[in-house]
Amino acid sequence: MTEFRPETRAVHPPQPPVENSRPITMPIYQTSGFTFDDPAVMADAMGRPDGAFVYGRYTNPTVRALELAVAGLEGGSAAIATGSGMGAINTVLLGLLKPGDHLIAQRSLYGGTAAMISDLVGRFGIAVTYVPENDPAALRAAVRPETRLVYLETISNPMALVADLPGMCAAARELGILSVVDSTFATPMLCRPFEHGADVVVHSTTKFLSGHTDLVGGIAVFAGTALYEKVWHFATELGTAAEPFTAWLTLRGLQTLALRMERHCSNAEFLATRLAGHPAVAAVHWPGLPPHPSHELAGKLLSGFGGVFSFDLAGGRAAGERFMSSVRLALLAPSLGGVETLVLHPATTSHRSLSADELAANGIGEGTVRIAVGIEHPEDLWADVAQALS
Ligand SMILES: *Cc1c(COP(=O)(O)O)cnc(C)c1O
Repeated sequence: MTEFRPETRAVHPPQPPVENSRPITMPIYQTSGFTFDDPAVMADAMGRPDGAFVYGRYTNPTVRALELAVAGLEGGSAAIATGSGMGAINTVLLGLLKPGDHLIAQRSLYGGTAAMISDLVGRFGIAVTYVPENDPAALRAAVRPETRLVYLETISNPMALVADLPGMCAAARELGILSVVDSTFATPMLCRPFEHGADVVVHSTTKFLSGHTDLVGGIAVFAGTALYEKVWHFATELGTAAEPFTAWLTLRGLQTLALRMERHCSNAEFLATRLAGHPAVAAVHWPGLPPHPSHELAGKLLSGFGGVFSFDLAGGRAAGERFMSSVRLALLAPSLGGVETLVLHPATTSHRSLSADELAANGIGEGTVRIAVGIEHPEDLWADVAQALS
């Protein structure tokens, strides 16, 4: 490089050789593209997901490390990391559906997904039928010749309903349709939908997988490589690729996922049990407690009952608002799955556009509070919740 002038040397700094030792953690490959010695290798890399790294919108070594990590944890064959959970969901839905197709979805869906499906119906000529998350007979009855896929969530928001993945995925397979499962609330530590017959698993890595409330990301994992390759080609066109730094933060979070999930679940059990015994609380919707409609199924399907649930305050909307303004340790915020405990009053925030009747149709009361339980000391959390309840 010494033969070049300063202007040129500034653009092409020397790179130190990394030989005879390796980094312990995955480096952040903060580069948009890759250079080649051989033009033929470059041409090959442009056309397939398993060629040499070529361009950041296709993938990147740090992003690929995350894709391999999550595919491995889920027991899938390959994954596509995206810039958000909605990016992963839309990459899959738009990558697999075309106008005239029909989709079956469970009734209780994450809000962003429900809004996207409304768009698919309203603007893209795709039909939808909603069925309960635990009713394979309803799935069979809803299927049409043009049905392409069934869309499920392992654990729903905010009522923590658990989908009958074995029953629903088996029915889908018999009927020749794909099953796509949003497993954000469960993570592969509580459930691996591929073991129950799912074809695609999506996550908002914004939540438990990264776990520290410091990024927005998503991932789609595929049971088989043919479906992966098809969606990968579409993803490079759609432009939903994850950023290397975000992928690196997510990889870092994944290393403690098992420990965090244990604590999220044990803290949730502690709080749910105490809430259930409190006179200001009318109902607790945590699947680990027997009154929950998914209790039995959750016991069989999940290796933990999750860290996000809702409870109903006996005093209705006013009590809900009072609770929200009284908590001190728990933070008023959307999102979930981070180390901090967050609370949300759906009737006045995430679901504020719904009337009391519409809320009720979603199983949400005016006094319902959703809590995303963090990893703080359980007694500190209970002390905060108890003082807010009084
Ligand atoms: C947050 C969330 C999403 C959307 O993910 P983003 O990262 O916010 O785009 C999808 N599904 C579930 C279950 C979620 O909790």
